[in-house]
Amino acid sequence: MSILDVQGLRMYYSTLKGDVKAVDGIDLKVEKGEALGLVGESGCGKTTFALSILRLLPWNGRIVEGSIKFHDTDIVSMDEKEFNKDYRWKRLSYVFQGAMNALNPVFRTGKQIAEAILLHEDVEKDEAMDRARELFSLVGIDPERVTSYPHELSGGMKQRAMIAMALACNPEFIIADEPTTALDVIVQAQTLQVINDLRRKLGLTMMLITHDLSVVAQTCTTCAIMYAGKLMEYADIDTVFSDSKHPYTQALTSAFPSITESRRELESIEGAPPNLLDPPQGCRFNPRCPYRMDICTEEEPGFIELGGGHSAACHLLSKR
Ligand code: SF4
Repeated sequence: MSILDVQGLRMYYSTLKGDVKAVDGIDLKVEKGEALGLVGESGCGKTTFALSILRLLPWNGRIVEGSIKFHDTDIVSMDEKEFNKDYRWKRLSYVFQGAMNALNPVFRTGKQIAEAILLHEDVEKDEAMDRARELFSLVGIDPERVTSYPHELSGGMKQRAMIAMALACNPEFIIADEPTTALDVIVQAQTLQVINDLRRKLGLTMMLITHDLSVVAQTCTTCAIMYAGKLMEYADIDTVFSDSKHPYTQALTSAFPSITESRRELESIEGAPPNLLDPPQGCRFNPRCPYRMDICTEEEPGFIELGGGHSAACHLLSKR
């Protein structure tokens, strides 16, 4: 059963130079219990895609076309009051990028979590604080630290406090946006372990946004590769690393070290992502693709089903 079903989603930012086509026709389903990694280079539209789901776009962003269904209910056309009351944070939640700065420095951390609970649930202050302690314990922080100010917590604790806050109203679907980017590798590993444990314990469905394939390898069951506002490939995690079919995915995995192939040279992807004010015709990856053919600059490739839930958008696959 799909918890989330996104069809034909286009989301543009208005600028003085025209529309930036940050998300440009994405179809994606997330099944109950799935941990989907949404991967791509900075600026490919993955955060914009996720913010569209929570309807948290900045003032100049708008959904131009498409539907986002959460359990068969279209949340794009839903009244904002209803969405805020019944969906945002309660059923769908978000761990924001940049834990170091996301907490308010002048309030005790537990109070910030309790406030989130009081805003959405009909409970007394004491109950909300008890719940904040429980959440601290759940993410592996001493519950008595609810009285600490953010500057009194380490980077890893702050990130875990952000995860606790996202869990405050018992959501069933959680989006974590680059949850480990600002952390050193040891704290990163601990945070990923917390995420894995929580997913198992609470039966969460998750979308994890990252530019780092190693994060996806450690936490996700499936992976969607995004480039320049479009999806390029979708597959289970093993297939992405061992049998990817899209040249962009192959380039990303070639830039990722392997413990089974000693001394393999890591390859970088030549060039830079396109300007989404005026993206290239045809396949958006064509200016950087070593396999480019004439058709690649003329026609956009459609998604091709490759079996076992694996699909990719590349003209090479239609020639097989
Ligand atoms: Fe490369 Fe063409 Fe495939 Fe795009 S469609 S990834 S340019 S071969």
